[in-house]
Amino acid sequence: METETGLQEPAAEPEGRPPGPGRAPFRVARTWRRMRRIAGGVRLIARGLADTAHPLLAQIVPIRRCNIDCAYCNEYDKVSPPVPADVMTRRLDRLAELRTEAVSFTGGEPLLHPALPRLIAHVRARRMTAAVITNGYLLSRARIRELNDAGLEYLQISLDNVNPDDVSKKSLRLLDRKLEWLAGDAMFDVHINTVVGAGTRRAEDALEISRRARALGFSTSVGIIHDGQGQLKPLSAGERQIYEQVRAIGTHGAWLFKNLYSGLVKFESNLIEGRPNTWRCRAGARYLYVCEDGLVHYCSQQRGTPGIPLADYTRADIERAYRTPKGCAPFCTIGCVHRVSIMDFWRDPQAEPAGPANRADRR
Ligand code: SF4
Ligand code: SF4
Repeated sequence: METETGLQEPAAEPEGRPPGPGRAPFRVARTWRRMRRIAGGVRLIARGLADTAHPLLAQIVPIRRCNIDCAYCNEYDKVSPPVPADVMTRRLDRLAELRTEAVSFTGGEPLLHPALPRLIAHVRARRMTAAVITNGYLLSRARIRELNDAGLEYLQISLDNVNPDDVSKKSLRLLDRKLEWLAGDAMFDVHINTVVGAGTRRAEDALEISRRARALGFSTSVGIIHDGQGQLKPLSAGERQIYEQVRAIGTHGAWLFKNLYSGLVKFESNLIEGRPNTWRCRAGARYLYVCEDGLVHYCSQQRGTPGIPLADYTRADIERAYRTPKGCAPFCTIGCVHRVSIMDFWRDPQAEPAGPANRADRR
């Protein structure tokens, strides 16, 4: 039986129909969906190159509550209710009006939201790409089918260690059966992210996690843990070595394109060596973070800036944020913002723009 935390080890015999790879119609449908995702990626790049004044990615929080409690995390609580579905729908509509390309549900733990499949379907109906970032505990084979039916395109799970400890329970041992279900049944792309640092006890766990993920056919990436402002926490020499090995797993063959930024620009290598990166953070423009209160922030680690309600966020706000340099950029480790910002690395230098930048200034 499933509890809200999902913390028990999964049953040996999963419920439901047999794994997907044995069924020809399933394989055809999965291939079709993969081709559709590739076409969507090409479209995103083309539109992103043609116009800078729309978001490429919005991460939105449908619920702040989380079913587990990672010691390093500042992005969850234990009490918040789900954002009502009709409120979420209006926010998704606003993102569509801003011509957002992709919407990723994050948290907290988004699978705790009872209407998540409906929200995903709404994102797809508004012709945006739909993604979910989850700790994976609440996945079952029935829920994977629900996500398939809703039209989910990307799912990311972050794993911190092989065995749970007092820092993190995002552990391969507890989640491995669920990864197998995903490998068999998911029609969407599954991506496994692991981190080095994070106060995790065994940096080499990242290597084992990445090898297992690749064996199951998933793409992988590795990040460096950041502090409460999105800034680097230095790695030890041993952690650096593991980091390079794990990154090599995720940056060759078919995975090279997906990890283009970390593979070519190596911004994290600079950070590991203590060198700042010179880049233009386009948070607030190409990337939006929308919290449970419906406010737009630069990112999860810069909450409060600009803190403008999404309903009032306009193309002018996007253009302003696009041209605003971020003082936290040189040592920032927020990988998703680095990736979306690469679209414009070659154009439009940033300088402090005139005009109100945050909610207080607009009153
Ligand atoms: S699972 Fe994610 S949201 Fe929940 S405590 Fe861990 S890092 Fe935070
Ligand atoms: S540089 Fe950008 S993504 Fe990084 S912490 Fe600052 S605002 Fe957030």
